[in-house]
Amino acid sequence: MEGMLTDLQVAVLGGDARQIEIIRKLTELDAKVYLAGFDQLEQSFTGAVKERVEDLPFEHLDALVLPVAGIKATGEIETVFSSEPIYLTREMLKKTPAHCSIFTGISPPLLTEMAKEADRKLIRLFDRNDVAIYNSIPTAEGAVMMAIQHTDFTIHGSTVAVLGMGRVGMSTARVFHNLGAKVKAGARKSEHFARAIEMGLTPFAIDQLPQQSESLDIIINTIPSLVITPQSIARMKPHTLIIDLASKPGGTDFRFAQKRGIKAILALGLPGIVAPKTAGQILAGVLTELLKDNNLQ
Ligand code: NAP
Repeated sequence: MEGMLTDLQVAVLGGDARQIEIIRKLTELDAKVYLAGFDQLEQSFTGAVKERVEDLPFEHLDALVLPVAGIKATGEIETVFSSEPIYLTREMLKKTPAHCSIFTGISPPLLTEMAKEADRKLIRLFDRNDVAIYNSIPTAEGAVMMAIQHTDFTIHGSTVAVLGMGRVGMSTARVFHNLGAKVKAGARKSEHFARAIEMGLTPFAIDQLPQQSESLDIIINTIPSLVITPQSIARMKPHTLIIDLASKPGGTDFRFAQKRGIKAILALGLPGIVAPKTAGQILAGVLTELLKDNNLQ
């Protein structure tokens, strides 16, 4: 039937609550689903069978779905639904048919290398623009949660700088603006200044952050390089809160912030924390569309 995944054989190997949404969607679309690393999952899904990873029918698989972090440096596949560790091996990948695709969120070097060696297609869902834009929604909500938890004043009426006008920055700026904050957007490109103006925000050049700092109650960083430097931190008011969303190690001089008594929090992985169901549905939606388009059989 059109739009279904009938006859497709997919193995889901380990993961967290987000995988539940992926399994739900795959089974709804009539795929044949094998679950490895889910022995402690109480819920059962029609069309999904639990197997030990060694017993998976690799030679019949059209797709393998790994946790969003891929695999560890030891080859272990993290799973919250099993007490037994499970591993992905080169032999397993080599047993799959040539058209079998491997889905992951990000790909650590070992996984990239294993997929290359086995000559299997590796799809990194977090590299996709659509996934990043969808994920920016729970990320922005997570930033609101952090702001509420770590301040004793309302977002409404406070002055908030959002650094970076990319996918996360734009969504976050919009949400804080809609809550009544005075939002200043720090960027370096003229097109980002234009977008900030269009959104009713006040743009400033990111290298002017030190001059802006005295006016800010909350700073939300999305730029993955050191932009919140001692020069800026030194000029912040004591109550200023820094919420750093940028991937490790963030964009803040945390050591200097601590020395100055400025609260600075590196808040990573917010979609999986504040909205695991939505985060899972985002991945499930994109993954199943790719499986339909891929014509994997
Ligand atoms: P993005 O769309 O690439 O946006 C990044 C922005 O940073 C761009 O606007 C870019 O502007 C700007 N930028 C990069 N380097 C800069 C520099 N040296 N100076 C000034 N601006 C600079 O990325 P995204 O999807 O918004 O993600 C942003 C970060 O958040 C990433 O590190 C991502 O991993 C992380 N993230 C975190 C969470 C969480 O839960 N905490 C969730 C999702 C994503 P230009 O165009 O001028 O380069």
